[in-house]
Amino acid sequence: MTAELIDGKAVAAKVRQEVAAKVAGGPAPGLATVLVGEDPASEVYVRSKRRACVAAGMAGFHRRLPGTATQQQVDEELARLAEDPAVSGILLQLPLPGHLDADALIDRIPVHKDVDGLTPGNAGRLAQGRDGLRPCTPAGIERLLDEYAVPLSGAKAVVVGRSVLVGRPMAHLLLTRDATVTLCHSRTKDLAAETRTADILIVAAGIPGLIGREHVRPGATVIDVGIHRSRAGLHGDVRFPEVREIAGLLTPVPGGVGPMTIAMLLANTLHAARRQEP
Ligand code: ADP
Repeated sequence: MTAELIDGKAVAAKVRQEVAAKVAGGPAPGLATVLVGEDPASEVYVRSKRRACVAAGMAGFHRRLPGTATQQQVDEELARLAEDPAVSGILLQLPLPGHLDADALIDRIPVHKDVDGLTPGNAGRLAQGRDGLRPCTPAGIERLLDEYAVPLSGAKAVVVGRSVLVGRPMAHLLLTRDATVTLCHSRTKDLAAETRTADILIVAAGIPGLIGREHVRPGATVIDVGIHRSRAGLHGDVRFPEVREIAGLLTPVPGGVGPMTIAMLLANTLHAARRQEP
């Protein structure tokens, strides 16, 4: 069996068009990006987020602070954006320089402007199965599964990785959709034994090639969140050529989960804006 590939670029383009059409029908939402320091990867990410937001007809506000910025300076910037009625969503680009207390800064983002779904308010709402702003990568994966009509209710889902941005919220989203969820992490005793039970396997461990054919039940849906750069190109946490021979559905890297993350950021910003309108 050779897996059908999930086309994240095509689904992301569809989401972006949907968002642009809805943006055109009302007041322009505004997305504020906050970048502290000069991390080159973060600069690239923030630039593509800003571009996508303008392309969807939204207003972009960018705040750039030096790597030497103090906790109080970043705090004050976030407070201003929190008050500004033209700003519907605030994105604080992570990671922050080591001297800053990231959790304390995330706490400054109002729950209704938290388009990354990172605040304890939104994480708590998700954990309780209530509505709210969802982290963009898990939300994008949920959309991919829906687009490819992967049944979630009653399915056995295994998530590898328990990060605040991906693994944990992913597990909660799948639970909200009535999957039976197992969350694996670095202390899991027998990873392959767990992952082989999965109808849906979502891998977000940040380890190149962690998942091979021995981890995958034949016909399973496999979603690869990893992105690793090598001289040979981009790779995921999944050994693509061998898993492709056994999975039923599989995301490529690049072109799978990656393009969905920014698309869902736009969808979240639109959602936040429409909820804030008087
Ligand atoms: P991301 O942001 O992509 O989720 P992080 O590096 O923040 O990535 O988190 C990696 C997660 O992967 C951690 O929760 C960690 O427990 C998990 N992890 C690391 N190594 C393994 C492993 N060998 N097996 C399963 N999970 C792992």
